[in-house]
Amino acid sequence: MEGGRSSRRWRFASPNPAVAAAGERSVRRYLLDLHGCLDERGPRPVIPLSVGDPSSCPSFRTAPEAVEAVATALRSGEFDGYPSRDTNLAARRAVAEYLSCDLPYKLSPDDVLLTSGCTQAIETVMSVFGQPGVNILLPRPGYPKHEAHAVFHKMEVRHYDLVPERGWEVDLEAVEALADENTVAIVIINPNNPCGSVYTYEHLSKIADTANKLGMLVIADEVYGHLVYGSTPFVPMGVFGETVPLLTLGAISKRWAVPGWRFGWIAICDQKCILKETKVFHSLRSFRMLTGDPATFVLGAIPHIMKNTNDEFFSKIIKLLKETAEICYSEIKEINCITCPHKPEGSFFMMVKLDISQLSDISDDIDFCRKLAKEESVMVLPGTALGMENWLRITFASEPPKLKQGLERVKSFCQRHQSQVN
Ligand SMILES: *Cc1c(COP(=O)(O)O)cnc(C)c1O
Repeated sequence: MEGGRSSRRWRFASPNPAVAAAGERSVRRYLLDLHGCLDERGPRPVIPLSVGDPSSCPSFRTAPEAVEAVATALRSGEFDGYPSRDTNLAARRAVAEYLSCDLPYKLSPDDVLLTSGCTQAIETVMSVFGQPGVNILLPRPGYPKHEAHAVFHKMEVRHYDLVPERGWEVDLEAVEALADENTVAIVIINPNNPCGSVYTYEHLSKIADTANKLGMLVIADEVYGHLVYGSTPFVPMGVFGETVPLLTLGAISKRWAVPGWRFGWIAICDQKCILKETKVFHSLRSFRMLTGDPATFVLGAIPHIMKNTNDEFFSKIIKLLKETAEICYSEIKEINCITCPHKPEGSFFMMVKLDISQLSDISDDIDFCRKLAKEESVMVLPGTALGMENWLRITFASEPPKLKQGLERVKSFCQRHQSQVN
């Protein structure tokens, strides 16, 4: 065969197997699979309750001030090259000021590294800490990109559980049991994707104490920062910068609903200068010099986006998410084989448990999602993609009527497949 001959001849024929393996487990891969199951000629429009990108819904359209800032930057012709030092500094200063509003101390522009979305922030931290022999603690359920980049960089991944009965809090006893002298960091996601949970000040304080005790860094993925609408306010992990050194990862992707603009950051919260003394700070900065900057016209627009976005935009989105979370929670309550252990208070996801035993011809969460896509043209993400078999992640950042319609279809699907009680 042609393929056999080429692999003998070409020396590059065996790329790093970890890359293909991670690709197979990525959210995108699961969604591609579901796309393949859709009945394209079906009479009803597809309702995706699976992707974390609401930008295509008119109600979630970003703030006009933000669009104006980018358009102005682009039209000026001043941001077509690589970013100047001034442009870069102004953007870092804007992010530092934005984050400092919620902290008991001030971050300086030097504490901020700019990245192309939160994804590159993740890649950067994993590159800097990754080496053989080292391990990192990641949540389960989790965000697959954390794991993929940790594995690419030769780290051992250890999962700690989020406890559904306790509002998806971190199981801190498990964290203590998992950590050893080679554990470099614990990653937390707050507000949480996929659980929709928001950690209280007290819980975050316990996480900080535990990390300090175990001598590990906290990496806080706060890409959903401020997207909260329940009784728990958003507290940035950086508030505990005196207790433990930490890195906060963020982006404008979710709060401004512009994941396509690819702008994110790493904030180094190091009140005790531990990251400076241990050279981590230096390594992070060195690594960033090797990678590309975000698009220059977005950099140029950032100071305006951060200063001029109207509060009305943020409150409109929060009000909408509160409404859609409520719709999602109450619709799911009506479905026998699906339970939601905790009503979402932040982000735009809900993690729900599937009781397979109540369904007659469905073998697991993946089978459920495939058949749901085929029969009802509704897409939800199987929990397996996030490390939780027989759970589902539902995205509710959608137009309310469309969300209701999608969940109605899930309901009739479940009724149709319910096992017959004898
Ligand atoms: C969406 C998301 C990211 C990636 O953000 P981008 O800015 O789009 O790269 C990172 N972490 C979590 C938990 C996310 O949900």
